[in-house]
Amino acid sequence: MNDMLRRNFAEVHPGLTPKEAMEESNRCLYCYDAPCIKSCPTGIDIPSFIKKISTGNLKGSARVIMDANPVGATCSRVCPTEQLCEGACVLNGASQPIRIGLLQRYATDAAMKTGDTLFAAGPRNGRKAAVVGSGPAGLSAARELARFGYAVTVYEAKEKPGGLDTYGIVSFRLPQDIPMWEADQLSKMGVAIRTGVRVGTDVHAEKLLADYDAVVLAAGMGRVPALGIEGEQLDGVYDAIELIESTKADAFGGGLQGARVIVIGAGNTAIDAATCSVRLGADNVKIVYRRTRGEMTAYDFEYRFAKEEGVEFRWLTAPKRIVGNESGKVTHLECVRMTLSEETGKDGRPIPVPVAGSEFLMEADAVIKAIGQKRLLPLIEAFGLEHERGVVTIDPVTYRTSHPKVYAAGDVVFGQGNGEATVVSAAQQGKLAAYSVHRHFGGISAETA
Ligand SMILES: Cc1cc2nc3c(=O)[nH]c(=O)nc-3n(C[C@H](O)[C@H](O)[C@H](O)COP(=O)(O)OP(=O)(O)OC[C@H]3O[C@@H](n4cnc5c(N)ncnc54)[C@H](O)[C@@H]3O)c2cc1C
Ligand code: SF4
Repeated sequence: MNDMLRRNFAEVHPGLTPKEAMEESNRCLYCYDAPCIKSCPTGIDIPSFIKKISTGNLKGSARVIMDANPVGATCSRVCPTEQLCEGACVLNGASQPIRIGLLQRYATDAAMKTGDTLFAAGPRNGRKAAVVGSGPAGLSAARELARFGYAVTVYEAKEKPGGLDTYGIVSFRLPQDIPMWEADQLSKMGVAIRTGVRVGTDVHAEKLLADYDAVVLAAGMGRVPALGIEGEQLDGVYDAIELIESTKADAFGGGLQGARVIVIGAGNTAIDAATCSVRLGADNVKIVYRRTRGEMTAYDFEYRFAKEEGVEFRWLTAPKRIVGNESGKVTHLECVRMTLSEETGKDGRPIPVPVAGSEFLMEADAVIKAIGQKRLLPLIEAFGLEHERGVVTIDPVTYRTSHPKVYAAGDVVFGQGNGEATVVSAAQQGKLAAYSVHRHFGGISAETA
């Protein structure tokens, strides 16, 4: 990556200055029964951490945040705060809500700079737990289990820990050193994070079941599925997650300089792929989506960011065929106009229907697929777990799967009404799975959890 691109991929938003942080923290009303706490899926004691900032106790503030949320530094950058804590702040309407995300970032950034370890592992309780995957769900489960005294080993297929925080979310929103610090906090507590080890291949599921008292499956989801249309094999067709990952690993091979890029999909992955393409030098980036703005799943802040970056949106437009030239290189995307039917699908959203005869061609040098993620069926089946189309079946309270030793959390259970595919939801589920493991072994009462 050249210097220009390196600059383009640097974090976009500056944090608060000390003066701004002080002023912002002093605006907080420190509400009794604060609604912001209730709106945080991990239940961070927000007024308490804000109060600590106002008194200059930044380490104490970071401890409050990270105690409730083991990936609280990441969440300060990627959470949809306007729909969560900031959306619930009592100052909405009267003035501006407290900028909770930025204050959370201010406190955790300060903790990162000190290099301090915020928490210690509990005295060993003689039990061993394995965690599969080191994304937010896995790190949270592992951190809580370590605090309960389990000897914890995290198995991670990639070279670095952090899951999509490290390899998925674009670096200009979330630099890699943030999830690295969160993982390092666990290593300093004695959690063994074995990277480059793929469960199911390098170590078998049966071995984990035999060697550990409990297993938490937090392996997330897989790559982007095929579109199932002609032309997907052409040169210039990318998987959004692979493309973003290559930029995070500084390994993008190039090819988007001056390009006309079309991204298919309208979730957070599509937005990240589109804004990444802008930063990789694309001349024009369009997102095509078969429904409308009202149904897109990307957060509002992501949508606004994409618009600011010059990304164009083509609503009610579905891809039909990717067209290439004689050398096998993408030249066009054939699309069809859609209309929304009165009927709704299982997800409650109106079903898009093609308008007969409305096919048209859009010029493109690259097409990026961003239509969700595949499920990790071979891994789920290696543990012999019940699942519904790849969504691991769990008890919604205990996160226990159909195997009595195995618990599951995060994106691996997302779908079929289980939570959200967000970092904060994965973190909370990881915590809850750890509490259930410990409760199962008699170490925790229902009230504590
Ligand atoms: C491009 C993109 C942008 C996003 N933006 C946001 C955002 O702004 N805000 C937000 O809240 N959420 C966002 N998300 C969603 C969020 O990243 C996920 O919901 C969250 O990371 C899920 O956490 P997880 O721990 O369940 O899984 P993951 O983060 O996917 O981690 C799973 C880990 O398990 C590992 N693994 C898989 N199989 C194996 C195996 N067999 N053996 C060992 N290890 C294995 C993987 O390598 C991975 O490291 C985004 C997602 C994407 C793709
Ligand atoms: S609701 Fe707003 S004002 Fe009240 S404690 Fe939370 S952040 Fe502070």
